[in-house]
Amino acid sequence: MRFNPKARLDTSRVRDVGGSSGSGGGGMIPIPGGRMGGGIGGVVLVIALLVLSQCAGIDLTGVLGGSSTTSSSSSLDGSMFSGTSVDGSSSGGTHDFSSCRTGDDANNSEDCALVAVENSLYDYWSGVLGDRFQPETGVHVFEGQVQTDGCGSATEDVGPFYCPTDQTIYLDTDFYQDMLEGQLGGQDAPFVRAYVIAHEYGHHIQNLLGIMNQVRTQQGADSDSVKLELQADCFAGMWAGSATTASADGEEPLISDLTDQDISDAIGAATTVGDDYIQERTQGGVDEESWTHGSSQQRVTWFKTGMAANNDVDACDTGVGS
Ligand SMILES: [Zn+2]
Repeated sequence: MRFNPKARLDTSRVRDVGGSSGSGGGGMIPIPGGRMGGGIGGVVLVIALLVLSQCAGIDLTGVLGGSSTTSSSSSLDGSMFSGTSVDGSSSGGTHDFSSCRTGDDANNSEDCALVAVENSLYDYWSGVLGDRFQPETGVHVFEGQVQTDGCGSATEDVGPFYCPTDQTIYLDTDFYQDMLEGQLGGQDAPFVRAYVIAHEYGHHIQNLLGIMNQVRTQQGADSDSVKLELQADCFAGMWAGSATTASADGEEPLISDLTDQDISDAIGAATTVGDDYIQERTQGGVDEESWTHGSSQQRVTWFKTGMAANNDVDACDTGVGS
């Protein structure tokens, strides 16, 4: 992935919100089974749960514990993280996005590449949705633990997630190395990072289009949850398929080059976060009843469908709510 070196970057929506170390103990999200058990499932599960709980209310602990318990209580107040208290003040971040000015900076810095990917997603979706588009409130990078405006607090065990209430994407940058590369055996490549952000941005688009409100069923291979996640993959693919295309007014795209390797890196990442792959790796067996994101094959297929969609949102209709 190469960025147009002369392109100007807009850093206004991307910021490091720091986070607390969480070393104070108490109040962390309970994840039964510990990091290697529920934690890994959790990491991917929660990406969806945070989204879904806003619509339907899910008992996070129950789901992570492997039970199918759902709570009828609304989680709009962020109560899914009830009991969580962020102790200690924000430590201030280690990422400085303000110095990212051009595509050249993005070619030379992972932090600036994050800004550039956000800018590219912003440009792309404002073009596709027109009047229906509203930018996400921001991409907030954190370490350790973060307090959101609308979804309670979360730790880095959660992985990247989108909070519909505050329309913000939360990104723990250690996720790529710790989870994708380490525990899930994937790899950390530039376009893997882009894919993850594009997937979360897909959830924002679903929020804008009202699709998120149509989710009724939370778990299982045929659930709305899975359909919602596959559509987010499809939306990520739409962006990937057109990210290097000049806009209608002839303006040069921010991303000047995507290689076949980039695309196969993203497909590899999509494989790594498939429910069957994760279950096989962490539980030694596949249980379709508890799927929330879809199989590796489904995730890859929908990403590719998005790439071929030629900017047609309808091509990514995975049947949420139907
Ligand atoms: Zn998702």
